Amino acid sequence: MKKAVVVLSGGLDSTTCMGIARDAGYELYPLTFHYGQRHDREVEQAKKIAAFYRVPHHRIVTLDFLKQIGGSALTDETIAVPVGGVNEAGENDIPSTYVPARNLIFLSLATAYAEVVGAEVVYIGVSAVDYSGYPDCRPEFIRAMNETIGLATKAGIAGAGIRIEAPLVHLSKKETIEWGLRLGVPYELSTSCYQGGEEACGECDSCRLRLKGFADAGAKDPIPYKKR
Ligand SMILES: [Zn+2]
Repeated sequence: MKKAVVVLSGGLDSTTCMGIARDAGYELYPLTFHYGQRHDREVEQAKKIAAFYRVPHHRIVTLDFLKQIGGSALTDETIAVPVGGVNEAGENDIPSTYVPARNLIFLSLATAYAEVVGAEVVYIGVSAVDYSGYPDCRPEFIRAMNETIGLATKAGIAGAGIRIEAPLVHLSKKETIEWGLRLGVPYELSTSCYQGGEEACGECDSCRLRLKGFADAGAKDPIPYKKR
């Protein structure tokens, strides 16, 4: 059976990628990063999502280094998570929830894992449509990363190669959710809130994008929100 590594955060997009990869006929090798994110509840949710898909292997990678260096509202408690508007920092600014080089690091490790298990593809749920403006979520980055992998790996030089698939990169949140619902993706197990509480805050960038996506798709978000 052909294999796919899926970068699984436990959020809405990566959970959708699990469904997409399964639908494409892959045996799933989800990889979850515990990097000291304030919303580390997502790691627990990722375990439940992996169990839902009955994967044989779910690896959780602990990356203390990203917490040690901080530099992001998601890894440094002294930096507040912006609330009150999508991309609070402004149209062209990168918000404080950006984690330095996160997807560059994650995709490098996911590629290494893919090489070892013999996976032909790495799925990542980045989107450059309804997003916070992170540079490592854009199609330019995915293209360049694919080129780099071809140059940097044994699989790229002497094997069948490994490619990064970002099936949501040009999709709105609405389109992502519609696709996921058709695939029976267990959104009730996913979590998106940057605050990491049992109930989502409904106010941070991530909550707002999620709520808008479900509203636009004409569906009800199955996770609990704080009463407002
Ligand atoms: Zn939130």
